[in-house]
Amino acid sequence: MRVALDVPLAGPFDYLPPSDDPLTADDIGRRVLVPFGRRRLAGVVLAVDVVSDWPAEQLKTVESIDRRAPPVPAEVLALASFAAEYYRANLGEVLLPALPPALRSTRQWRMPRPLVRGPLEQPAPPAGADPDTDDADDRGAARTPAAAPTLTAEQAAALATLSPKLAAGFSTTLLHGVTGSGKTEVYLRLLAEVLGRGGQALILVPEINLVPQMLARVRERFPDAGVVAQHSALADGERLSGWLAARSGAARVVVGTRLAVFAPLPDLALVIVDEEHDASYKQQDGPRIHARDLALYRAQQRAVPVLLGSATPALETWARAEAGAIDRVSLSRRARASALPNLQLVDLRRGVVAAGFSQRLVDALRLRLERGEQSLVYINRRGYAPTLRCACGWLADCQRCNAHLVLHRQPRGLRCHHCGAQQRIPTACPSCGNLDLQAVGQATQRIETLLAELLPTARIARVDRDSVRRRDDWPQLLADIEARRIDVLVGTQMLTKGHDFPGITLVGVVDADAALYASDFRAPERLFAQLLQVAGRAGRGDTPGEVLIQTRLPEHPLFDALLRADFAGFAKDQLAERQAAALPPYAHLAVLRAEASSDEACERFLGAAADLAQQLIRQARQKQARQAVQVFDPVPAGLARVAGQHRWQLMLHATQRPALRALLATLAPQLPAVAGRQVRWSLDVDPQLTD
Ligand code: ADP
Ligand code: ZN
Ligand code: ZN
Repeated sequence: MRVALDVPLAGPFDYLPPSDDPLTADDIGRRVLVPFGRRRLAGVVLAVDVVSDWPAEQLKTVESIDRRAPPVPAEVLALASFAAEYYRANLGEVLLPALPPALRSTRQWRMPRPLVRGPLEQPAPPAGADPDTDDADDRGAARTPAAAPTLTAEQAAALATLSPKLAAGFSTTLLHGVTGSGKTEVYLRLLAEVLGRGGQALILVPEINLVPQMLARVRERFPDAGVVAQHSALADGERLSGWLAARSGAARVVVGTRLAVFAPLPDLALVIVDEEHDASYKQQDGPRIHARDLALYRAQQRAVPVLLGSATPALETWARAEAGAIDRVSLSRRARASALPNLQLVDLRRGVVAAGFSQRLVDALRLRLERGEQSLVYINRRGYAPTLRCACGWLADCQRCNAHLVLHRQPRGLRCHHCGAQQRIPTACPSCGNLDLQAVGQATQRIETLLAELLPTARIARVDRDSVRRRDDWPQLLADIEARRIDVLVGTQMLTKGHDFPGITLVGVVDADAALYASDFRAPERLFAQLLQVAGRAGRGDTPGEVLIQTRLPEHPLFDALLRADFAGFAKDQLAERQAAALPPYAHLAVLRAEASSDEACERFLGAAADLAQQLIRQARQKQARQAVQVFDPVPAGLARVAGQHRWQLMLHATQRPALRALLATLAPQLPAVAGRQVRWSLDVDPQLTD
């Protein structure tokens, strides 16, 4: 029999079934415990009747098989298998992390109290049986469903296009709706139809923080549907019971992050990917899977529709819609009475009152405070200031990274955001002894401090990864915002994604410029999306919103389209540039990244990998395939050293995807031998970050 294991080795891993327990095909997808070297690992059965390449006497025997949990469905195994092949990862490394921790641990797990009591569920065990789920409320009880609003004309038109697709097999549709246009209401109406026909639905959101809001909206409308969450921050018991409920069909809707794309859903009838453009869908460590792209594969596999929602679609998605390869429906107006916010630039070169704040922004904030409205001040950097400087030229740099240390005041210290190094703040310049060290630039804590001085009566809350750490911080904060216990929010991207805060009428962007200098070719796309999303937080209630964007580069072309909130115009320009430069979506990339204690080791490995790639390309049978892939020279990564490790990368560029996939299929298996033991490496297919 063949087993998937979460180890960084290619496998396959063949075992003998226990002598007293011959496995059958029904056991495919079940969890087994197996000996592995000196360890014992949990694995998933992939096949029972296999002729192993290994002699039988060398095979070890499976220790035990777990038949209490239902098997991972064949469809999920097939999805994981596709992902492993596409992203050049080992199947077990994709599959096992996607399972609830209880099912991939070697410990005996306990049946949790069901979150959802459907016809297929066992009655609940006595209370207190599992401490993990004690706090889980009883969601089986009927409530009254929340009333649905009357659809806007645009929503109704969107549904008229989308509903027929529910019964028409696989299709991909982009729901391009401006911020506040009521995309969620469209999702809910589609869910109603799907649930009415006995289907299950999967809703993906890009971040854990966005799960509670989506969960609440779906549960409110469908109190009896059994709506469960699947993400990595759930307690083990809740994660397991949600998985079991989805698997048994007791739960009809799963709301989750990336890994939920592997949720077991026997009656899956609709897949929704909310904020489909969000880079968080791409995993940045381990197997570099892209959950949105896998969601498309999954929908195709099941012959069901997939809906991609966004106000700022990924250019890849937009290009496909423009080319007619996928369908598109648009919501161009906000669902509630208020219009889209009014965006304006504030030229920072003309008068700054207090470090980083223009008079215009300060006045606008004061006005909101007087009127009892809420404001949001956006700065996408946490800490107090990006670094500390002396007049002699000294800068607080990390010893182990090519990066500055970030100044923090709460708690005080210099911190490296890349390697985590911490230092005390020096009282004098380590280089010249000068006592007058200056904080350079702005970050959330400094903006918070400045605002407290500028607006002494305002209730200010800072929202970043340092202030929102514990599980309860976020719900508490959302409650405070909603109850108007906060006047001004200062925060990073955490605050801007997808949330609906009707009290906010002003958004101020402290400094949009850093991203305009970034070298990654996707930087303008990300900045545009970020600014349009943050702007979209303004004026979602009945009072129209105002957005002030401070910049020293007001003539930058990106702002032209932004001020008109013209996503289509921006996308057109960007796509023209991408096409001229042969960049995605007009070409396909893979990046081989290397990390070692010296530049030479990285360069040697990537040089050898590049030679090997060239050789494989020359061997390709068709001339077309030989011309389709280009191997670049190894170069140091944008962040060339982290925690003492040097980082390099090698780019593979292809005009045709199949040619790249064919090359990677032969190249990747040879890389461990080329790398040896000195280099850590990873392969990123369709990378989101390329600098
Ligand atoms: P989006 O996800 O497109 O940014 P939301 O779904 O959050 O927008 O909707 C924005 C606001 O408009 C929400 O408060 C929502 O309840 C409200 N809304 C949506 N559709 C309607 C409608 N048809 N009538 C009234 N209010 C609506
Ligand atoms: Zn560092
Ligand atoms: Zn100095």
